[in-house]
Amino acid sequence: YKRIKLPKKTNDELYQMGETFNHMIGQLEKNFEKQEQFVSNASHELKTPLTVIDAYADMLKRRGHQSPEVFNESVEAIQSESHRMKSLIEQLLLLAKHEEQWNIKQTDFPLRPFVEETIKTFQAGFQRDIQCIAEEDVTVKTDKEKFKQLLYIFLDNARKYSNDSIIVRIGVNKNEAIVEIMDHGIGIPKDDLPKVFDRFYRVEQSRARKSGGFGLGLPLAKDLAEAIGADFAIDSEEGIGTTVKIRLMRDDSH
Ligand code: ADP
Repeated sequence: YKRIKLPKKTNDELYQMGETFNHMIGQLEKNFEKQEQFVSNASHELKTPLTVIDAYADMLKRRGHQSPEVFNESVEAIQSESHRMKSLIEQLLLLAKHEEQWNIKQTDFPLRPFVEETIKTFQAGFQRDIQCIAEEDVTVKTDKEKFKQLLYIFLDNARKYSNDSIIVRIGVNKNEAIVEIMDHGIGIPKDDLPKVFDRFYRVEQSRARKSGGFGLGLPLAKDLAEAIGADFAIDSEEGIGTTVKIRLMRDDSH
């Protein structure tokens, strides 16, 4: 075991090192606080449906066998809260995984049929009018599975925060393929727009909506897009609607 001899530092250099060190510690502290906040938010969100399930199970036990109404209401509530918990846990697990563990498989495929197929699957779950407009088709190279998850997040938000039909437009811009998901719903207020990428952030208005999620969709979308070599921008106006523009690399070898 040999002692390493450190080169002599001038006062200025030592001061610089101290500054860098303080900055690093500050950054670590911030990350740690964020992590703590995340765990505390996640626990709170999981506790809420559990409390509801517990209360309905109790009611079911006491009055369920006498009244079919109580029975039905309780079973409905328990089922819907369990679904909410399941979806929260799935999102949390995805967020907790590191990109390297996502097992990204880039393949090339024509964009239009894939987007149409995804819309169809989505519509099977939610009866919602979605129009798909394609200017021209294009081959892209990305991870199909993760790209589908990305589309689902945006389609689901469009569904949750609007009532009219959703428009999906496929286009091309130079060496990029563009997919736009447009809704004419409640929109996102200007001040909230930069915050919607923070984990668990929800706009006040959408919190009140029963159909709202946990505020994990967009943070997850950011991670997904980065992992598959895509990116997206959100353009929104309160009371007018929202457009999400996804950009993917074209595969020109086709
Ligand atoms: P959630 O699961 O709550 O929808 P997201 O992370 O996907 O969480 O979105 C964060 C917040 O951004 C939402 O709670 C909602 O307030 C707002 N938002 C996202 N997409 C839309 C949209 N298409 N229209 C209006 N508001 C939206």
